[in-house]
Formats: sequence, C-alpha cells, structure tokens
Amino acid sequence: MTYTASRNQRELRSRAETQLERLKLPSDPELTDIVRQVALASGKRIDVEPVGDKDWENITGLVLLTSDSAKILVRKSDPRWYQFHTVLHELSHVAFGHTGCATLPVLHPGQQHVRAGQTVLARGIVTPDFEADLDFSDSGLVMEAEAEKLSQMLSRLVLRPRHGRDEAVFG
Ligand SMILES: [Zn+2]
Repeated sequence: MTYTASRNQRELRSRAETQLERLKLPSDPELTDIVRQVALASGKRIDVEPVGDKDWENITGLVLLTSDSAKILVRKSDPRWYQFHTVLHELSHVAFGHTGCATLPVLHPGQQHVRAGQTVLARGIVTPDFEADLDFSDSGLVMEAEAEKLSQMLSRLVLRPRHGRDEAVFG
C-alpha cells in the first residue's frame, strides 16, 4: 500500500475510520489487543519501550520503523495516561503506513536511537490544532493529524465505560 496524504478534513476522518475497521478489534479492547492488531494489519513486529528523558525536552514519543518492525519509544517520566495516548498515536502512524518525518530536526536527540534503514516519526509536545485550520499542502502535518484522529478513536474504545450501571450512578 503506498501512502498518500489526505486532502481535506472529510477524507482525513474517513481514512481514520477505514483504518479502525481494518484493525478488526475485539469489543472492549485493551491496549495489548490494539498492539497485536496493528502488528497483524501492518505486518510489523511491534515493541513498546519506555526511555529516559534527559534529552527529551520537546519530544514525548517516537517510533522507529523498518520494513518489518516498529519500535515505539515513550518518555518514562510522563504520566501513564499520557504515555498511553502517545503509544496509541504512534501505533496509528504504523497502521496508516506513514514513513519519514519532515519535522524532526537533524540533530534531534531521538537520532541516537536510529539505526541504518530506520525512519523516525516523532511526537512533539506541540500538536497542531488539526481540527481547526490544517494546512493540507503540508503532508507532514497531515500525517500527524491522521495519527491523532485515529488515536482519539482508539482511546475512546479503550477508555469508554465498561459498566453501564456504574455510569448511571453519575446521572
Ligand atoms: Zn506523530
């Protein structure tokens, strides 16, 4: 599958929905189900690894890609819920088949993790406000927006209330 970036908001949403369907997640999925299904759909081995944060001032996660693997690095010091969202975001890049990242500076600390044949997608602290005015001519930004959209859909599945009656307590 060769990747081309979405051209507008509608296409972006429908592509994220298509990716979600393609994953064929079980009902009430856990994060491990999502990792497994993304690995199946993408044909890549997936590892998630928390790393130290000395050099990670502006970056909270990244994924190292090869043709048959994806290693997702998340910042150890971030709160668990944020690491969780970062993993979903990076998994979404993998599901979409995104490659390369024009926004990663050449001397980025993430580079020390990179080996020959890998490309990097990095998650910065500043996420573009993709719902508002995304520049669809910038494929790097569009990739970020696509990953963010799919990861929101995924986190809604994982975080939705498991017990309807518990929820009723809150009115
Ligand atoms: Zn990203």
